[in-house]
Amino acid sequence: MPLLNKVVIANRGEIALRILRACKELGISTVAVYSKADQELMHVRLADEAVCIGPPSSAESYLNIPAIISSADITDAAGIHPGYGFLAENADFVEQVENSGFTFVGPTAEVIRLMGDKVSAIAAMKQAGVPTVPGSDGPLDENEARSLEIARGIGYPVIIKAAAGGGGRGMRVVNDESELINAVLVTRSEAAAAFGDDKVYLEKFLLDPRHVEIQVLADGQGSAIHLGDRDCSLQRRHQKVLEEAPAPGLSDEAREQVSAACVNACLQIGYRGAGTFEFLYEDGQFYFIEMNTRVQVEHPVTEMISGVDIVKQQLLIASGYPLSIKQEDVQLRGHAFECRINAENAQTFLPSPGLVKHFHAPGGIGIRVDSHLYGGYSVPPYYDSLVAKLISYGDDRHSALRRMGQALDELVIEGIDTNADLHRELVRDEAFGRGGVNIHYLEERLKR
Ligand code: ADP
Repeated sequence: MPLLNKVVIANRGEIALRILRACKELGISTVAVYSKADQELMHVRLADEAVCIGPPSSAESYLNIPAIISSADITDAAGIHPGYGFLAENADFVEQVENSGFTFVGPTAEVIRLMGDKVSAIAAMKQAGVPTVPGSDGPLDENEARSLEIARGIGYPVIIKAAAGGGGRGMRVVNDESELINAVLVTRSEAAAAFGDDKVYLEKFLLDPRHVEIQVLADGQGSAIHLGDRDCSLQRRHQKVLEEAPAPGLSDEAREQVSAACVNACLQIGYRGAGTFEFLYEDGQFYFIEMNTRVQVEHPVTEMISGVDIVKQQLLIASGYPLSIKQEDVQLRGHAFECRINAENAQTFLPSPGLVKHFHAPGGIGIRVDSHLYGGYSVPPYYDSLVAKLISYGDDRHSALRRMGQALDELVIEGIDTNADLHRELVRDEAFGRGGVNIHYLEERLKR
C-alpha cells in the first residue's frame, strides 16, 4: 500500500518540526504552511515546500480553513496533519478536508464530534465500560429541583461543566447547595457566550486527584492498542508543566483494567489514529474526564518507554495501513520525563517573546530535545509560549530524574525569559521526587 505521498503540516513550532521529521523518515514529502510572523521557523526552512497562508493572527492563518486546504490543493498534497491545538479537534475542518479530497491525519469528523461534546463522550465511555466521575449522566435541564436532587445524591462539592468546554474554561465548583442554581445559570450563560453551546452537566468534584492518561493507537480497521500511561499532575491553571511515563505508584491491576477499557472504547466508537483518554485518579480509582483525539504535547515520554514513534504511526494509519504492532509486542521499559520550556517570565508567567541570542541544547545518553529554537530566532508574540520540550529517559524513575536535572543545568536560552529555573527546582523537589503528587501540588508550591 502506498504511503500518503505528500503531507501539509498545518501547525507551527516544535510539533511542526516533529511531524516534518516523521514524514522525512518515511519518505513523505512535506509542505509547511506558515503565517507572515513564522517565515523563520526551523521546519519552514527544512520542508520540501512552504506556503504562506496569511498574517500573524492565528484566526487568519493557522485557523484559516480555506487557506490551509488551498495550500494542499496547489502543492498537490495527499494529506493534512493538524498537530495539536489550532484545527486539530475541529470536526468541521475535518469534513472540509475530506470533502476536498484530502486525507486528514486523525479520526473521523464523527468521532471528533462525539468526543468533543463532553456529555456524549461520557455517555460513550460509560457504555464501553470506562470508569467515569459520578455525575448527572447527561445535560442539566431547566428543572431546578431535579438538579438539586442530582447534586444531593452525589454529595458536595460538585463541579458544573460546559459540555463544549475546553482549555480549562467553562467550569465552576459548587461547595454548598445554596450556590448550585446560580452556578448552573452562570456557567450556562458563560458557555453559550464562549462556546456557542449552553449545555452544562454536573459531576462530583474530586478533592485531591492526580491526572493520569492512557495513550492509544487504533487503525479504524478493527485493531487498537494502548502504550501505557502518563502522569501529568504538575499543572498551573490547568496547563501541564512537567509530565512523566509511566505514572508512578499505580497497581498493575488498576493500570491493566483501565487501559483494556480504553482499548475496548476505541473499538466501540470506531476510533482511528493516536488518541489519549484523560482521567482523574484518586484513591486507586480512575475517573474519565475527556478524550483528546490528536497527538499530545507530552507524547514523547510514551515514545521513550515504548520505543513506538507515535507520529509515524499516525501517518501509517492515515495512509490506510492496519496496525502492525500487537499489544503483546508493546514492551514498556524504564521511565521518562518531559519538561515544557515556555518563553515566559519566571515570576509573572507572562509571555516573554523576543530574540533568542543564544541557544544551547543539552545532550548525552537518554536526553531528547524537541524544539524549533536556534540562536538568532525570534519568538513571535502571537502564539503559544512553548519553545522547547526537554525529555529524559532512564532505566528507572530516579535515574531519569537525575538525568533531567543535568540536562536542565546544561540548557542555555539567552535573550528571552523562560521557566527553566522552575523546572530546575521541580526536579529536585522532595515530594515530586517521591512520586504521585496531586494536581494542586504545583500551585500550592508556587504560593509558598
Ligand atoms: P478541559 O477540557 O477544559 O481541559 P477537563 O474536563 O479536562 O477540561 O478538566 C480540566 C481540569 O479541571 C482537570 O485536569 C482537573 O484539574 C479539573 N477538573 C475537571 N473535572 C474535575 C472533577 N470532577 N473534580 C476535580 N477536578 C476536576
